[in-house]
Amino acid sequence: MAERIEAGMFEPRENPLCNWCDFQTVCPVFRHRYERDDAPRIAEVVDEWIALKREDRERWRRMEELARTIKAYAEEHGFKRLFGSDAAIQLVERLETAPDPEAVRRLLEPLGLYESVLAVDPKRLHELIQGRVLPPPVEDALLCSREDVRRTTALYLREPARARR
Ligand code: SF4
Repeated sequence: MAERIEAGMFEPRENPLCNWCDFQTVCPVFRHRYERDDAPRIAEVVDEWIALKREDRERWRRMEELARTIKAYAEEHGFKRLFGSDAAIQLVERLETAPDPEAVRRLLEPLGLYESVLAVDPKRLHELIQGRVLPPPVEDALLCSREDVRRTTALYLREPARARR
């Protein structure tokens, strides 16, 4: 396994047995724990990110709490704007709408434009594949037909109890 990791041919899958894994020192998920003393600057950056993320979470939690109070108060009194000492909070109502699929079909099909507003819904396609209702060759062909559109890397905070694993 170590050779595969070094050759970049290994995709780690964190699992409950990681705690007992002998490859942690070379595994991309855990290796940095054993090498972090070699690069103290990045350790500072990591610590700062974690601290900011925690502050963010606390701030977000408090903002949600305040928003609930503000909305309830404004609704009770019929206010659309609440004034603070040097600024104000504007309450803006938004109504989300969704097209009625049948109406869209009825109106656009006679004009030959219905196909132009259709698109494959990746989420529904995923659910269809996961639902195991397709013949296996169709399922395989759909899986193979996927194209890489873009690769992104998200950062998640792992609190000590989980990060230790
Ligand atoms: S530590 Fe976990 S993810 Fe890494 S190689 Fe071992 S079992 Fe796989």
